[in-house]
Amino acid sequence: RFFPSYYRHVFDTMRRTPIYDADGEETGRTVFDNVVSTRMHGVAEQALHNPVVTPRLPPSSDLTMARAFTRLIEGGYDWRDLQQFFLRVFRYLATSPARRAAELEDVSWWQYLRGYDPRTGRHRYRYSERFAGDVKFSAQVLAAFNAEWGDARTNGSTYAQLFLNSLVPRDTVDGALNGPTSEAWFDPWRRHLEALGVEFVRGRLESLSLDARGRVRPRVSFAPAEASVGAAADADAGAEVDVESDYYVVATDVVTAEQVSRALPDVGVPGQLRGYTTRVAPDPRARASGERPPKERDPCAQPGLAPWDRLQTLSGIQYYFTCDVKLVHGHMYFSRAEWALSSINQQQFWRRPPRLRRDGYGAVLSVDIGAWDRPSRDPALAGRSAWQVSQRELAAEVWRQISVALGERVGADGDEGAEVPAGDTADGDAPDEDTADGDAPDDVVRPRLRLPQPTWFHIDDHIVYDDAGEDATPIRNTAPFLIPVVGDWRRRPGADPWNPARGTGARADGPRDPALWSAPHGGCWIHWSALVYAGTYKRTFTRMTTMESANESARHAVNAILDHYLMSAHAQRRREAALGRRRAADGTRGRVTSPADAPRDPADANTKLWRPAAPDEPGHDQPYRPTLIGDYCQIWNMEEYELPEFESLREHDAQLLEMGLPHPWDLLGVETLPSILSHMPAADRSSFGELRRLLEATWRRAQAGPGATPPPDLRAHLEALQNIRAAVERELEALLRPPAPGQGQGAG
Ligand SMILES: Cc1cc2nc3c(=O)[nH]c(=O)nc-3n(C[C@H](O)[C@H](O)[C@H](O)COP(=O)(O)OP(=O)(O)OC[C@H]3O[C@@H](n4cnc5c(N)ncnc54)[C@H](O)[C@@H]3O)c2cc1C
Repeated sequence: RFFPSYYRHVFDTMRRTPIYDADGEETGRTVFDNVVSTRMHGVAEQALHNPVVTPRLPPSSDLTMARAFTRLIEGGYDWRDLQQFFLRVFRYLATSPARRAAELEDVSWWQYLRGYDPRTGRHRYRYSERFAGDVKFSAQVLAAFNAEWGDARTNGSTYAQLFLNSLVPRDTVDGALNGPTSEAWFDPWRRHLEALGVEFVRGRLESLSLDARGRVRPRVSFAPAEASVGAAADADAGAEVDVESDYYVVATDVVTAEQVSRALPDVGVPGQLRGYTTRVAPDPRARASGERPPKERDPCAQPGLAPWDRLQTLSGIQYYFTCDVKLVHGHMYFSRAEWALSSINQQQFWRRPPRLRRDGYGAVLSVDIGAWDRPSRDPALAGRSAWQVSQRELAAEVWRQISVALGERVGADGDEGAEVPAGDTADGDAPDEDTADGDAPDDVVRPRLRLPQPTWFHIDDHIVYDDAGEDATPIRNTAPFLIPVVGDWRRRPGADPWNPARGTGARADGPRDPALWSAPHGGCWIHWSALVYAGTYKRTFTRMTTMESANESARHAVNAILDHYLMSAHAQRRREAALGRRRAADGTRGRVTSPADAPRDPADANTKLWRPAAPDEPGHDQPYRPTLIGDYCQIWNMEEYELPEFESLREHDAQLLEMGLPHPWDLLGVETLPSILSHMPAADRSSFGELRRLLEATWRRAQAGPGATPPPDLRAHLEALQNIRAAVERELEALLRPPAPGQGQGAG
């Protein structure tokens, strides 16, 4: 599991999850102490010097940075790729959230990087084939979608967070757990909740419906031998029973959420979930696509019907070794592997690493497969994809792709190591130094990289094979993965996310249907006074479907329940009745705010909240907003935690957008010259020093931009942008100047 440093919700939950000792006492440690930083990440690919391993930290010196650029150019990038890419990223950082919403949700990340203009259909930039392939493919490796279909805002805002690690030193770095997930995280979490009085009951939600009085009725079947509570107390194992509660949070995956909501009326999230996973729209970019009907499908049997299908397969395999193996201190991305692979040797981070004698294995390599539909290049598989091979074939093929990417050499005897198919040999673009001339005598030992062979493997249980036979191929993925497709954000079910720290002012766009309730300031909808949905498919500030957005979504659900409990007339009546029952039962006089006293907005009494000048790290960055019965769950909008240097440019852009004007960056033509240059034939100079200076100059100008105080005026903004543009043009001019006599190429 990968915990990038920008996760705030997950880390906050981890910090608040204590670890208990054997006597049930809190140790003072929390689950967050079980997250260890992964300092590096690697990219393995034959054409590169294998593998390229880079720290997830700002470059320590100019030399380190120059080397990083050099490697990329040697790997086949054009220097303009990097210049254009970073200019686009800087422009993104200077774009206000409002413009991102208006202009960048309907274009893909790849279109944005190419500077697509929807009015003319033209692109500002061209990239080298190699760079284009890597950009499109990297999203597939990380999250099972192609950058041609992933929306620019989700990608851009996520990249903006990941990019921070390369620019500024941070308190938190990317992390992995120091033990298996259950041991390091879920067990302590469950134990803590039990200590707080939570009772866990294993059951399966079968359906949701309304009873004759319009109340929500979930039907649940309970697992055998399960300690039962409430309505389930008398239930036989496997029997379906109605469960009664004040609130229900449906936190299943999206496919199940749609299935179990079918019997509910067509409103709110249940209404928006109709067909959400069971229908695939025709190609949204094709002409007249709106006239063609969507295709009905079983989402588990047919995920990934098209690249724009919002459900794809991201799943994987674990290899176990008898010896100690680690590829890199972090994640490894196999950037050209056909099936879009990434891996991590997680045991290297474990406090108690596995021992062969005790545990039966010495190392484990977890591999994610991001492209299940792509054909293998191995002739032995005859172009079959991961969906079309047996378990053994899948294990052998993934291992082959990894071995090829890592540059495993097959010896003259050919009897060891992975088989490298013809035409795809490990020697490909990077000949062995010793044998490059082809004259090496037979008795010379050829350099070989030999990888240890895994002893056994395990494929994710969500991939279901059609029978137990050796040749069985997969028939279902019971957990398809939701991807951020262009234009799909507004189709996500439910309300926009609400951040309690950013105000409780009333909003005009609350739900109109009487079956739905939301607080006047916005937030999750409560259906029929009881039902809330949570999951990565809901709208979150995090957007990308990760553990972070799952956690954020759950927080929105809890905040909505707090609001409903305190504000709605329905909940007030329920509370009064409960209080009455309690008084009658034990004679106590509980203290409860009477309905008349309860403010319409529970945070009204708390408007004067501490607000720090500069947002910084999780836990210190924004006010807690209490309600009458305790704090709201904290919410972080990650777009508020980008590089502060661009903050005032973003604000300026927001003003221009309100006036109906284009992005100030475009008005000033910051990218005009690079755009012209992009369409010229390949420049024969590849001076990394000048490229570096160009990027640095842009960066410096942005940093030296208008400060936060006093409020920057328009002139200051203009000056900042003009300076950026001047820096870009000056450096480009230097880059293109013919070399002085006697000066070699590629200096710097
Ligand atoms: C291979 C892979 C690797 C990933 N790696 C990362 C990573 O490194 N970092 C990261 O941040 N994210 C990662 N993700 C994404 C992340 O795991 C998901 O986005 C996240 O788990 C979604 O959380 P969720 O709570 O919305 O849904 P889920 O995790 O799908 O949880 C839904 C739960 O509902 C239960 N359920 C389903 N049906 C019923 C029913 N009828 N009754 C009762 N319960 C039911 C399921 O058993 C499940 O426990 C990865 C995903 C995949 C597939």
